Amino acid sequence: MTKSRVIYWFRTDLRLHDSPALKAALDLDPEVLWPIFTWDPHYVYRARGGLNRWQFLLDCQNDLSASITKLNSKSKLFLLREAPQTVFPKIFKAWGVTHLVFEKDTDAYPRERDAAVKAAAKTAGVQVITCSGRTLWDSDQIVAKNNGKPTMSTTQLQNAGKKLGPIDRPIPAPSSLPGPGEMPLDFEHEQPTGKPDANAERRSKKDTGYQSIAGPKGDFSIETMEELGFPSATTPHKGGETRALKLLDGIAKDKEYTAMFEKPKTSPAQFEPQSTTLLSPFLHFGALSIRELYWRVQDIVDEYGKGASSPPASLTGQLFFRDMYFAAQAAIGPEFTQAIGNGHCKFIPWHLPSKVDPKTGISTGDYHIDSPEAEQWFQRWKVGMTGFPWIDALMRQLRQEGWIHHLGRHSVACFLTRGGCYIDWERGAEVFEEYLLDHEPACNAGNWQWLSCTAFFTQYFRMYSPVSFPQKWDKNGDFVRRWVPELRDLPVKYIYEPWKAPLLDQKQAGVRVTGDGLSSGDDGGGKGKQKTYPKPMFDFNERREICLAAMKTAYQANLMGNDERVTDGTWVEL
Ligand code: FAD
Repeated sequence: MTKSRVIYWFRTDLRLHDSPALKAALDLDPEVLWPIFTWDPHYVYRARGGLNRWQFLLDCQNDLSASITKLNSKSKLFLLREAPQTVFPKIFKAWGVTHLVFEKDTDAYPRERDAAVKAAAKTAGVQVITCSGRTLWDSDQIVAKNNGKPTMSTTQLQNAGKKLGPIDRPIPAPSSLPGPGEMPLDFEHEQPTGKPDANAERRSKKDTGYQSIAGPKGDFSIETMEELGFPSATTPHKGGETRALKLLDGIAKDKEYTAMFEKPKTSPAQFEPQSTTLLSPFLHFGALSIRELYWRVQDIVDEYGKGASSPPASLTGQLFFRDMYFAAQAAIGPEFTQAIGNGHCKFIPWHLPSKVDPKTGISTGDYHIDSPEAEQWFQRWKVGMTGFPWIDALMRQLRQEGWIHHLGRHSVACFLTRGGCYIDWERGAEVFEEYLLDHEPACNAGNWQWLSCTAFFTQYFRMYSPVSFPQKWDKNGDFVRRWVPELRDLPVKYIYEPWKAPLLDQKQAGVRVTGDGLSSGDDGGGKGKQKTYPKPMFDFNERREICLAAMKTAYQANLMGNDERVTDGTWVEL
């Protein structure tokens, strides 16, 4: 019997531990196994991944590659610089591949891409094996057990999960790997389309362009940021499976923290160390297996017995939110990340109803999202120059480090949408897509819908004040002092409302509260001059009333797609 020649395609699973797909590949007892990562133009050119996420990805790839080499000195993670839809048909043939194995991905674009790759494999006579491993339960199976509907609460998820049975225990990492076979790139006689290349004879091997699949050194190596033409990343957070497992060990060692974890009690203003696990970027890239995390925590919870916290606030409860959003997206499809075409997302006319009569709730203004005022609010929010120190500190941390605490995300998302600016959640989600290390299309869109009260959560009257909310967590304003250094020396009583500081206090603190933060001269840093910090972009209390009235009008006008009234989850009383 001919032995299997297997391509293992790494995508959302940059790890060796607990990988059902990798196990399936090794169960074929392959003669050769090529560990592959394809540079997909979709991510390179279309996804809005910021530099920090690129760096985190490269960290994960380098770590994985080193781990592969430890198991087989001839092997590593081979980077192929071409779209999988076009490169696979070529290498299937040139390398004599019998099987293609990968972890299932239920995100919108990957579903489309994988369907194309599967079709190409079929044509080439290559067998495709896929396994679920990115979520606790297979998202499509959850949807089936939820009567074909999206999971709009963690209760629905858990009920559907029960029907599928217990969450699988993690599988150990392999102790050895087969070596890779030859990787010839002499398919220059064919165009990427698969059609014969009429000019083949005139071309030399080198100038066909195909060699670039293997990178500038021709060795399928992982690029550096420099080679990619990117400036350095600014995040202090480093990626990789080795690091993820070490962090998890550290968390599990603190049994009390792990067993008693309650999300609403963790501080969004705590840093070094942060109050939650900060494992999300590792989960995003699959450097940490979700089941590994779940069972490490659940075993501690079981050992702890009755005193342990329980879902949805507990640590395992957090993982249910993740699965809930994945399954909601799996059911709704590509429209999940937008309002249009998404029947489960309420439609809110996100204009600027800055002239809504709070008594009648009727908008008398003619403002629109494109009005200069709204656009300026959006730009100021994005760069952390709103004039509200709590919001600005969070947005600056997000830009610099790529991660902020969940309640920090709550604060800035509520502020941009129904709790301040009344700007479309999709615009905020785009900014998060760019900045987050852990950007997950399902979790990002789902949480933005939650915070904007367009799906999953409907209590729009509960808002985060950028002044009183942070005061509960950080009276002295240390978090603000760190991220908004212009305000470092401001007295405590003005730290969340610097515009109220008398000129003398401003002077003594070496800062002037003035301008809008966007105009030249309002650079915050001062450049040798006196430092400046912008005035608040609006009166928050006034905006709160306006937004409340507008949401009420929108809800009453029944401008919503569905009527799921779900209130479980993380909510903090103001
Ligand atoms: P922990 O509290 O330690 O939780 C452990 C894990 O549970 C997390 O790593 C994460 O995988 C999962 N989790 C926790 N809370 C949630 C949640 N509400 N939804 C989904 N999963 C959750 N999370 C992402 O992973 N990717 C995103 O793109 C993303 N975008 C968000 C956008 C907004 C507007 C908001 C409010 C939240 C978003 N979240 C997102 C959810 C949550 O904020 C992060 O998962 C969490 O802060 C990550 O930090 P942690 O690993 O310390 O979480």
